[in-house]
Amino acid sequence: MQDQEITIQPGCEDELNTGLLSVAQARERILAAVAPVKTSEALPLREALGRVLAGEIVAPLDVPSHTNSAMDGYAVRAADLPEEGVREFRVPGTSWAGRPWLTPIEPGRAVQIMTGAMMPEGADTVVMQEQVERDGDRVRIGSGHHCGQNVRAAGEDVAAGQQVFAPGKRLTAADIGVLASLGLAEVAVFRKLKVAFFSTGDELRPVGEALGPGEIYDSNRYTLYGLLRKLDVDIIDLGVVRDRRELIEQAFNTAAATADVIITSGGVSVGEADFVKETLEKLGNMSFWKIAMKPGRPVAFGHIGAVVFFGLPGNPVSVMVTFFQFVRPALLKMSGETAPSPAFTVRARAASPLRKRPGRFEFQRGIIEQSAPGEFVVRSAGAQGSGILRSMSEANCFILLDPDRSRVEAGEEVEVQPFQNLI
Ligand code: AMP
Ligand code: MG
Repeated sequence: MQDQEITIQPGCEDELNTGLLSVAQARERILAAVAPVKTSEALPLREALGRVLAGEIVAPLDVPSHTNSAMDGYAVRAADLPEEGVREFRVPGTSWAGRPWLTPIEPGRAVQIMTGAMMPEGADTVVMQEQVERDGDRVRIGSGHHCGQNVRAAGEDVAAGQQVFAPGKRLTAADIGVLASLGLAEVAVFRKLKVAFFSTGDELRPVGEALGPGEIYDSNRYTLYGLLRKLDVDIIDLGVVRDRRELIEQAFNTAAATADVIITSGGVSVGEADFVKETLEKLGNMSFWKIAMKPGRPVAFGHIGAVVFFGLPGNPVSVMVTFFQFVRPALLKMSGETAPSPAFTVRARAASPLRKRPGRFEFQRGIIEQSAPGEFVVRSAGAQGSGILRSMSEANCFILLDPDRSRVEAGEEVEVQPFQNLI
């Protein structure tokens, strides 16, 4: 895909290829090297749900478009209301929602009015129906009301001319409701990113086939599919590619011709049968990073022409962790989202000790529970090996342990990132 300007990070390959990068450094480098898509398309409002706005939205009208009643009751002029005692008003008619009473209100009159109905000209106050006594074409209203009560002003939700949304906003259910309230039937959003992925490894079998000796099923393409679905990108699944030079090169060429982003899993570790590395070095501009994290390292990142490439590790938990830390933020930026809502963290007490070696950032899988309002406890979701995908299924959060941290004792506070919205 050709509509991106790419910026290759400064030439510090030697530094990148030796030593360990921190998670934050790797993420910053990746974010600096990817750019948002430029093309946009106009979509009917409903189809724009979950997509990213390409331009700003300025309100073409006031919402609500007319001053109206917030209650069922009687519209009056505040000046006519009694300061004490009770006053009787004549009721000339009713203002219905969508069928307004068009005659200006005369002194001493009260127009019956329904919720959402336009205020009659001259009326400034609504007295709730429960607070009056109606008798034929008369209504008795007591004291204690104030001018402007129960009235919704034109433009109090959105004023005409106001910027409602800035470009780069991912549209939620509330957002498309706001756009509908402005009468907009279509909205311009950035085109979807096209993301291709494939798994590499001679040991991998697609589901539905019988396993041979030493083979395992390819699960990474399923987790990746699930993770990508959440991001509303076009998904191009290129299957399992055997560890053979020409097949790998062919897969990269196919992916690069159709996608904005290529994600692979497996085949990036040192000493691996390494057609992935070899091919990437031939086709593009690549860095192989060892990142001070567990699980997750190593990760490859670079470009094949204008196409962005992520080479994730093969272990299933590592795939998910590196996806969240590196791929997801990059895809959000490339999709044109300017202020993605950050994944939030909370403090929780460890229910039992957590093993941890200093020197690298650990993303342990945990189960967080609320112990009292505003208080949380977290326990390990079980064995923490990077091949144990069940730990991701059973967990509802990552326990984030900084590089400097060592073993955590029961009762100590840790930082926790709930999976909500991530998975
Ligand atoms: P690699 O990074 O290729 O050395 O793979 C590391 C580990 O992850 C090995 O045990 C692989 O068998 C496993 N693995 C690699 N790719 C996949 C996959 N697509 N699905 C499940 N496991 C995988
Ligand atoms: Mg492999």
